[in-house]
Parts: sequence; structure tokens; C-alpha cells
Amino acid sequence: MNSPLVTELLATLPEGRLLTDPDVTESYARDRTFLAPGKPVGVVLARSRDDVVATMRAATEHRVPVVPRGAGTGLAGGATATDGCLILSLAQMTAIRELSPQDEIAVAEPGVITADLDRAAREHGLMYAPDPSSYEISTIGGNLATNAGGLRCVKYGVTRDSALGLEVVLADGRVLDTGRRTMKGVTGYDLTGLFVGSEGTLGIITAATLRLRRAPSEVATVAAEFSSLVDAAAAVSAIIAAGCQPSLLELMDRTTLQAIDEWKNIGLEPGTRAMLIAQSEGSPDAMAALCGAASFVAVSSTPEEAAELIGVRRLAYQAKERLGQCLVEDVCVPRSALPRMIATIEEVAARHGVMIATVAHAGDGNLHPVFIFERGLAEPPPAVWAAADEVFRAALALGGTLTGEHGVGLLKKRWLGLEAGPLATELHHGIKQVFDPLGILNPGKAI
Ligand SMILES: Cc1cc2nc3c(=O)[nH]c(=O)nc-3n(C[C@H](O)[C@H](O)[C@H](O)COP(=O)(O)OP(=O)(O)OC[C@H]3O[C@@H](n4cnc5c(N)ncnc54)[C@H](O)[C@@H]3O)c2cc1C
Repeated sequence: MNSPLVTELLATLPEGRLLTDPDVTESYARDRTFLAPGKPVGVVLARSRDDVVATMRAATEHRVPVVPRGAGTGLAGGATATDGCLILSLAQMTAIRELSPQDEIAVAEPGVITADLDRAAREHGLMYAPDPSSYEISTIGGNLATNAGGLRCVKYGVTRDSALGLEVVLADGRVLDTGRRTMKGVTGYDLTGLFVGSEGTLGIITAATLRLRRAPSEVATVAAEFSSLVDAAAAVSAIIAAGCQPSLLELMDRTTLQAIDEWKNIGLEPGTRAMLIAQSEGSPDAMAALCGAASFVAVSSTPEEAAELIGVRRLAYQAKERLGQCLVEDVCVPRSALPRMIATIEEVAARHGVMIATVAHAGDGNLHPVFIFERGLAEPPPAVWAAADEVFRAALALGGTLTGEHGVGLLKKRWLGLEAGPLATELHHGIKQVFDPLGILNPGKAI
């Protein structure tokens, strides 16, 4: 027999929007973490704001928790189903409602794939700047809910820096418009900023007004190979300190490069222990010169060559998934602390005998040490948890943070108390209470 929620949704939603077959709903229950999901009561495939409103009204009436979901590429367990929840997928809300070259804004629904919005903007000489490595598979809604970063963030900022206004369906089905479509505006509290990064715990984003930027007319890419990861990190610090203003500054360690090489045969030299990829919207010569300790430096001479070099970096996570299961950290440290953080990660990996493959959005001080463990295990072995714990603590001791862009989700909750003090925690729960008094929006996640 159907639950009262399922009965109501079958009656109120258009046909085909609700899935209840467990074999089908299971495929919507996970994100890209190893975390085992609970069993959902159903999945709503929303196609309009009205579908979301009807879903949230019913969920409120029947007190059923709702787990919002974009493309499920999250790396923190934010979209992981909990037992008895309703999954609300926004992936089919894919309209770009407006794209105004004059105002340099777009209004996009949450299911728009990030790179599709960028491509649409480029037809007008503009770009959508936030570009997580997953931008060909992740959604605007997921990017907003996690405040996603990406490769171009070093110059253009994170997703929040491009979010001007939001349309949000609240827990009880009311619709809230936040923010504006102007470049400036300070009326009231910054509710847009509050929803961005709230990981689906405060409301369901059903549209966003997003800032576009002029697409650069030329970009040049530098790829430098180093025989020491710490030397590569030092080159990052030198590039930042010299005021070069790169539009992208990415670092990969030997384990990552080897994983990519085994998959795509990039011709990795035996002595290469790190690769730095930097992009500039003017001449790249100053950045290339600061890679003095590199064993090899290549500068792209065409846009195709530049894209190819960056394409290598975008393969990093999938290449590591080929090696085993991944626990992905996302620590961020002050940029001057990057060499010390990298040295610590290498030391922790060696001492615990754990494979850690690190990539970094180095220009932001944001590192992704990926702890790789055996396939088939339900969760990481104790040595991996112990090493991960040390890396988190080291980042905090250097003045850093637990998560630069992936969010807390479920995965990082065990460390949250190390960073957020009791007062901040109390205020977070107070805010949650205002927006979601019944606690039905993605409960147990993020805070
Ligand atoms: C290969 C790969 C590379 C990646 N690279 C990066 C990177 O460079 N930078 C980066 O920041 N991340 C990166 N990620 C992580 C991930 O892609 C981002 O976190 C992305 O923003 C998630 O988008 P999604 O559509 O998959 O969201 P999901 O994983 O489906 O959801 C993420 C969170 O958002 C919530 N949510 C989703 N949609 C909504 C909505 N409409 N309203 C309210 N809440 C919502 C969910 O409940 C969940 O908490 C990468 C992941 C992979 C697999």
C-alpha cells in the first residue's frame, strides 16, 4: 500500500513525475562518495517550479524529509538519500529563461548543466565563470547549493560571486525571490548569499539570476613539470606574490599524473613529481619565468593547445576513481601555507602507508588530497581515516578550513566541531529553524 505522501503526490503531480520502484529509485540515492545511501520512499522528477511547490507542500503536510538533488556529482554526501526520505531531483528543470548580453546576466533553472550555460553565454562574447572540473556533468542548482569553485575561481571567484538573485521554494511550499538583477544592491540581509552553499538545508533553488562576464579574447597556458611537489608549490607562491593574476593555477602530484598517464598516455617523464598548469589572459612569460625550478616548461601557442593542457587537469578525478574507492578531501589554506600543507600531506601518506593523490586549485590554496582505498570495502580502512584526520587538523592549524568548495554534506560532519565553535553552531541551527522549522530539508547534512 502507498504511503499517504506517495498517494498525495500521485494525485497532485502530473503523470510520470513520481518514481517509486526501488530498483529505479536506488539509482538516485547516491552521489560520488562511497557513502551507503538509505532507502527513499520515492523520487520526484520536477520539471517546473509548480512541481517543486506541490512536492514541498505535501512533504510538509506529511513530515517527510526531502533530499534535493542535481546531477549527483557531489563529493561530500550532500545528495545521499536517508531512510524514508523523498528525493527531489531538479535535473529536468533545464531552461535558460533569459540571457541578456546588455545586462550581462542569465536566468537559469537548476538543472542546467554548468558548461551549457557557459556555451550559451559564449555565443554573445560572454562567459559563465565558475567552472568546477565537473562542469560538463554538474548542474547550476548543485553548484549554487555547494557554492562550487573551479579552475577559473582564482581570478573570477566562486559560484557565490556570480549569484545575484535566486528563486527558492521554501520547506512549506512558499516561493521566495531573493537578491536582484543589478550589479550592486544592498537592500536587506544577503539572503542570496545565505542560500548559496546551504547544501539543500534551507530551501530548494528553482531559478538563479547569474552574472556573466566578458569572455577573454586570448588565453595562453603554461605547463611546467617539477621533480619535487614542494618546488611546484613554491612556484605557485612566487606567481601569486609577483602579482601575475593568473586566470587559472592548478597543481597535480605524481600519483595523479601517473593515474592519468595510465589511462590516457600523456607521456609522463619518470622524474616528474608534479605538474603546474597556469593560464593567463595576457602574456604568460612572467609566469613561465617564475617556474625556474621546473625540469620542463611548455607554453601553448594556440587556443587548441591551451585547451588540451587544461583538459589533462580535468581528467584528474576520473583517473583516480579508476585506481579504487576515493575519500576526497577539500582543505583550503592561506596561499602562503601551500608548500607546508603539501609537505605535510606527503609525510602523512608515507607514515600511514596510505595512497594519497593530490590535485590543487593552487592559486586559491585549495587542495584535494584524494585517499584511495580498496574497491569493495564498505568504508575506508582505519589508516585512511587516521590519515584524513591528520590532514584536516594540519589544514586548520595552518589557518585553513575543512572545505573550500565541496561542502560538508555527511562526509565532513565528524570534523565540523574542530572549525565551527559552539556559538557559530548555535546560530547555524537558529537559522535552520527559521527556514525549516520541521527539519525536513536535507536533515543531518551540512550543519
Ligand atoms: C570529476 C569531478 C570533478 C569535480 N570538480 C569540482 C571542482 O572543481 N569544484 C567543485 O566545487 N566541485 C567539484 N566537484 C564536486 C561536484 O561536482 C560539485 O559539488 C557540484 O556543485 C555538485 O553539483 P550536482 O549538480 O552534481 O549536485 P548534487 O551532487 O546532486 O548535489 C549537491 C548538493 O546540492 C544540493 N542541491 C542540489 N540541487 C539543489 C537545488 N536545486 N536546491 C537546493 N539544493 C540543491 C544537494 O542536496 C546536495 O547537498 C567535482 C566532482 C566530480 C565528480
